[in-house]
Amino acid sequence: MKLDSKIPEGPLAEKWTNYKSNQDLVNPANKRKIDIIVVGTGLAGASAAASLGELGFNVKIFCIQDSPRRAHSIAAQGGINATKNYPNDGDSTYRLFYDTVKGGDYRAREANVCRLAEVSSNIIDQCVAQGVPFARDYGGLLDNRSFGGSLVSRTFYARGQTGQQLLLGAYGALSKEIHKGSVELFTRREMMDLVVIDGKARGIITRNLINGELERYFGHAVVIATGGYGNVFFLSTMAMTSNGSAAWQVYKKGAFFGNPNFTQIHPTCIPVHGDYQSKLTLMSESLRNDGRIWVPKNKEDAQKIQKGELRPTEIKEEDRDYYLERRYPAFGNLVPRDVASRAAKERCDAGFGVGSTGLAVYLDFADAIERLGKNVIEARYGNLFQMYEKIVDEVPYDTPMMIYPAIHYTMGGIWVDYELQTTIPGLFAAGEANFSDHGANRLGASALMQGLSDGYFVLPYTLQNYLADQIQVTRIPTDHPEFEKSEKEVKERQEKLMAVKGSQSVDTIHKKLGLIMWHYVGMARNKEGLEKAISEIRELRNSFWKDVRIPGRIDELNVELDKAMRVADYLELGELMAKDALNRNESCGGHFREEYQTPEGEALRDDENYKYVAAWEYQGDDNEPILHKELLNYENIEVKQRDYK
Ligand SMILES: Cc1cc2nc3c(=O)[nH]c(=O)nc-3n(C[C@H](O)[C@H](O)[C@H](O)COP(=O)(O)OP(=O)(O)OC[C@H]3O[C@@H](n4cnc5c(N)ncnc54)[C@H](O)[C@@H]3O)c2cc1C
Repeated sequence: MKLDSKIPEGPLAEKWTNYKSNQDLVNPANKRKIDIIVVGTGLAGASAAASLGELGFNVKIFCIQDSPRRAHSIAAQGGINATKNYPNDGDSTYRLFYDTVKGGDYRAREANVCRLAEVSSNIIDQCVAQGVPFARDYGGLLDNRSFGGSLVSRTFYARGQTGQQLLLGAYGALSKEIHKGSVELFTRREMMDLVVIDGKARGIITRNLINGELERYFGHAVVIATGGYGNVFFLSTMAMTSNGSAAWQVYKKGAFFGNPNFTQIHPTCIPVHGDYQSKLTLMSESLRNDGRIWVPKNKEDAQKIQKGELRPTEIKEEDRDYYLERRYPAFGNLVPRDVASRAAKERCDAGFGVGSTGLAVYLDFADAIERLGKNVIEARYGNLFQMYEKIVDEVPYDTPMMIYPAIHYTMGGIWVDYELQTTIPGLFAAGEANFSDHGANRLGASALMQGLSDGYFVLPYTLQNYLADQIQVTRIPTDHPEFEKSEKEVKERQEKLMAVKGSQSVDTIHKKLGLIMWHYVGMARNKEGLEKAISEIRELRNSFWKDVRIPGRIDELNVELDKAMRVADYLELGELMAKDALNRNESCGGHFREEYQTPEGEALRDDENYKYVAAWEYQGDDNEPILHKELLNYENIEVKQRDYK
């Protein structure tokens, strides 16, 4: 199969307008006859379902949680980017486009990123109209702050709870449609398989998580908005139920998987504190607006701190190494996440780390408190400081926070074309679930922007373009043989898992996988480590299918079975991630291959050989997947070595 990214003709800045002017539409009477399935109620899914319902389609939306409002998007803290240029500091559509392509280390598709920058301002208007309480300045105007990888302030925020407020806005819009009857909501349902009929996506199989029943749903088209798969690493900042299963199911049905190894490691997370931890907590990137990152200049001081013999506040100013400000004077503490994470690792590996493990650096607000006053810092970040205090039992107003990089986001995902359509006709992917706009490294505050852009502004057009062709297709009954077959396969897989009756808990195996992933497919990778990861993951997968223990029954609420199904998928997806990282003999963004770095330790790309999206095609469990390459053309941006100095 040949990859076609369907980028519209014409100058970059006019592509989206031209697309919208020429796309096919579905007339209102026909919209009523068309069913669309949306899987996921995070910002991408909720905004898509609300918009499609409002257009007049019949939408069915599904989520794992008991309410759409509990989707992982609710956790987003720092903000959402848009090119309003309210601070008059030089922002523009081009600049956001440029920052995003550069931030992604020139591994994103120009046309998609340009569209994202173009609609970013509409998102703010939409959300303000919904009543999202964005922060405002003293005069009542919408306020902005800065995030990494840009020299302007373009991030709109609602304290440290931006995701929650945006999700409440989307949920309001969704609820209106549910009330109207255009959207039907199915909570506590987990997608188990995609049903493909005559080469087109036509439905899904779900597990009712309360009673274990398998259910069948038909749709003329299916949208996957199921979020990212960072939990393959076991420890991450993602919600506990975030998973990669829907993406993996559609991959196995023929959708290509784009850049699976591109994972984001966020520099400002609360460090791991022990072996019995199942979750990591993010301290928002917004804190880098006012917090300064440092470690002791002298190893002896670091060692004393590690032993608890010295406190950070006792280290004199001249004995502190503000290493980001030192290495990257232009961007300082606001370098992109991949750069900041690697710099923290470098300092800790060299023996300058703090905390009892030596795997932490300081994020210090003393200067900002002195300059602005404690009340200003409290107003900006109060809830984050409180969260930190509750977890670490230290008051960050008095003692610097300790932070360390952690898994946070997956840039990789289901491959989609310009229309957000996958390689299976009628199957679309939105939000973090698709691979699209962030290349090899996502800039802060751009995930919310992308999810809402996909849902509110892109899918309502592109899905319609596809559906205009489908108006003659009558609803396919769910006793169709393909539905029967899919459901049977899911049932057999569940029964096989339950029948193992081994000795290891699902979490035990998941944790082992996480350690393999973190050590060999994490912040720094090399050929030898990646090969080791592939063989260790295979061994672990074997031991999972021989020795996992799942208590309870299939036909009841069974969270261990739910987890086991997800971990079974991670044990396959993890291997593809390692393969993808092994294939990419270069460093770019979050993908840092130790063999490929500049003398200063920066990522060294190989544009001649790797300026492409790696799109993997499944060939059966026992065969190697096929690698397809979507070559990336940069006609509007000069491709060069990233420089934040
Ligand atoms: C702690 C934290 C803070 C963040 N802060 C920011 C920020 O400030 N700014 C920013 O831009 N980004 C931020 N991000 C990233 C951002 O929150 C996410 O990328 C984004 O919210 C993802 O939205 P989504 O709609 O794609 O998926 P999600 O919000 O993850 O929603 C996924 C949905 O899919 C459902 N689902 C999943 N699998 C299945 C299945 N198999 N069957 C049925 N339903 C399923 C879930 O129930 C859920 O409803 C942050 C991330 C974290 C972890």
